[in-house]
Amino acid sequence: MALIVQKYGGTSVADPDRMRAVADHVAFTKRHGDQVVVVVSAMGKSTDNLIKLANEVSSVQPGREMDMLLTTGERVSMSLLCMALADRGIDAMSFTGSQVGIITDTAHGKAKILEVRGDRLREALAEDRVCVVAGFQGVSTAKEITTLGRGGSDTTAVAIAAALGADACEIYTDVTGVFSADPRIVPQAHKLSHVNFDEMLEMAGAGSKVLALRSVEFARNHHVPLHVRSSFTWEPGTWVTSEEPSMEDPIISGVVTDSSEAKVTVLGVPDRPGISAALFEPLAAANVNVDMIVQNTSTEGRTDISFTVPLADMKVAEGIVAEVAQQMEAAGVTHDNDIAKVSLVGAGMKTSPGVAASMFRTLAENDVNIQMISTSTIRISVVIASSDLEKAARCLHTAFGLDSGQAYSAPLPERK
Ligand code: ASP
Ligand code: MG
Repeated sequence: MALIVQKYGGTSVADPDRMRAVADHVAFTKRHGDQVVVVVSAMGKSTDNLIKLANEVSSVQPGREMDMLLTTGERVSMSLLCMALADRGIDAMSFTGSQVGIITDTAHGKAKILEVRGDRLREALAEDRVCVVAGFQGVSTAKEITTLGRGGSDTTAVAIAAALGADACEIYTDVTGVFSADPRIVPQAHKLSHVNFDEMLEMAGAGSKVLALRSVEFARNHHVPLHVRSSFTWEPGTWVTSEEPSMEDPIISGVVTDSSEAKVTVLGVPDRPGISAALFEPLAAANVNVDMIVQNTSTEGRTDISFTVPLADMKVAEGIVAEVAQQMEAAGVTHDNDIAKVSLVGAGMKTSPGVAASMFRTLAENDVNIQMISTSTIRISVVIASSDLEKAARCLHTAFGLDSGQAYSAPLPERK
């Protein structure tokens, strides 16, 4: 008997038909003899709709009240699913995040899980019940209801799987797995049967929306194997595990695109110690996720600093940056919202030089101008104009041999 955590995203439970289809699958898993804990997201676009509603009512939106509002979406899903399970003769019980002891910090809207107690889950499982948990939420150390950030139900599922020592955490969504690129942008993209945690982390960090970044971190740190698959086709999807790629695996696993960021440039910043800290500390304190940072070499004691932030954080960032720029007597601040980020991700990069050069050459040949570059051991990202996004993603996908699903192997160094 295995313990399986199944997470169903918003599209998987979007309407009564979908809800019944999910109930059928949960019932099937349970009758197969496994213990099941289900984590559900809010139905369809209901979280978006709740946010819209809040926007129409208020411009202040205190974090505590937003979280009270947004957590209702998942409560709707959990109770309806339990009712559908009851119809199928399955003894199921719904729980809020708070009820199962998902303890978070106090950062409303983007709370981090500190601990999963899970006592009520263990009790209900021992009584042979299916547990259905509301995703995306917890209760803070200050006893307030919190949310984990958009897409946070993935994190709920993985955290519960880790706490209960589950055998696998299945993430059901509207795509059949993790692809070599977003198929809406690159039609030749193919499904990956397996990626490792490091690659998935880089993909999520680079803007892949398939899994929330924090859920992958959690899965890696707690060794929870993930299976990303579709609740529309139920076919095998993509496994995300700690397994390292083998020699035959492609060097590049995927091209990741992201148009959710904007670029900020602070011009004519005095080039002296402490300036970057003065700029990025208040942004960090305001929970603005700064991604890429580029600082030019200085001329005459002044330099430019450019960085990217999520478009969603732009309002907050703008205010902070304007103030800091004034304090440090910078020459000015500019913004560019029409940017996109394209990244190549692949664990094989570690052992294969020349990938960055090939990437830049491919972009040059396709007349794509690079504005910023950042790298990790297994990722290369560039910021380009958003109008170049499709072209860049497609040419890289082709150049690195991903169109046909075959490996890109780096040219052997020339022998002297
Ligand atoms: N319902 C929340 C959202 O839409 C959480 C989730 O779906 O994971 O962001
Ligand atoms: Mg959702």
